[in-house]
Amino acid sequence: MISCVHINPAECDFRFWDASTNGEFTCKSAYWIATQSIDWLQESQHERKYLKVVWLANIPGKVNIFVWRACMNLLPTISNLVTRELVPNSFNCVHCSTPMEDVKHALFLCDWARDIWANIEVSNLTNQVADISIEEMLGGTKENKSGKFELMLMLMWRIWCARNSKAHGQGDLEKDKVKESAYGMLQELSRFNRPTEAFTAPHHPASRAWSAPPYGVIKVNCDAGVLGTNGASGLGFIMRCHNGLVLVAGSRRLAFAKSVVEAEAKAILWAIQVAQAKGFARVVLETDASILVDAFKHNKVSHHIRSLFLHIRRLCLLFDSCTWSFVRRDGNKIAHELARMALTDNVDDMYNGYVPFSIEALVQDDLNSLDV
Ligand SMILES: [Zn+2]
Repeated sequence: MISCVHINPAECDFRFWDASTNGEFTCKSAYWIATQSIDWLQESQHERKYLKVVWLANIPGKVNIFVWRACMNLLPTISNLVTRELVPNSFNCVHCSTPMEDVKHALFLCDWARDIWANIEVSNLTNQVADISIEEMLGGTKENKSGKFELMLMLMWRIWCARNSKAHGQGDLEKDKVKESAYGMLQELSRFNRPTEAFTAPHHPASRAWSAPPYGVIKVNCDAGVLGTNGASGLGFIMRCHNGLVLVAGSRRLAFAKSVVEAEAKAILWAIQVAQAKGFARVVLETDASILVDAFKHNKVSHHIRSLFLHIRRLCLLFDSCTWSFVRRDGNKIAHELARMALTDNVDDMYNGYVPFSIEALVQDDLNSLDV
């Protein structure tokens, strides 16, 4: 809470309690904050440790994203589709007819998948997902059987593709073929060095439309708004990959920001913290606040957000690569809308792998502009 308050020596200090609507302290709201922050901290540290090895794996970007979605339980498994009432609960695993197929079953625990894993001598590791999370199992694989790590990620992808082919009536794929295609992808990768230089791509003139980041990089669009009367501010961000797929989005209301620039910087700080909690290693930070982009590029910032600025710079060093980009408002409209929702509709939420319904059309607009 204290870090939310920016101290400006030119102004008199005043106190308020951010967690209640009238600014007055209550024990109930303090207890709520304590339990929320402990959960969040534990969860983010845990995710950061294991998910980072996934993002840094030398595999195609689409497989990075697929494995991340598997770890976050965002794949359209039967269990997830039933929960969202998109299919009846009479749907079963396409291979073994087990009801309510979940991500662990689809990728590791189904007998069909177990045969494939047994073949490459990591079934002692993959069987562990019955008791631990997928990212913990992957973390253990990276530590104990590093040579099999990339193969394991690739096989997860091929097993999922084979499962989808069968689900869509395209017949059974032989288990050997699934294994061979994963090996084939790995061999192809070893011949083709991925263009890591793209992460420090030159700065292009400010665009009016959203543009996708380079392959393997996550673009983070941030925005914020402030109510002139009382300093209440809304923060918004959205993170997408090279093909425009939404990875995470968020809206958050802050009780107070001294200026729009301060709120914009707080939106960036929040987005960076979420990106690091998700284990993203290579990012482009994009905002329509040109004053901030200039500040970060030239290491110059006005005094009133200096401590915030230094904090952001320090966190940026933790990424494997991090570049700054200015975009005109038209190219940042989703982050703008998320910030507006926080400010005027009191929305305070994070969306893993999707956006609120009211924003879906804007995401589609950005995708359409990519095709032009
Ligand atoms: Zn099954």
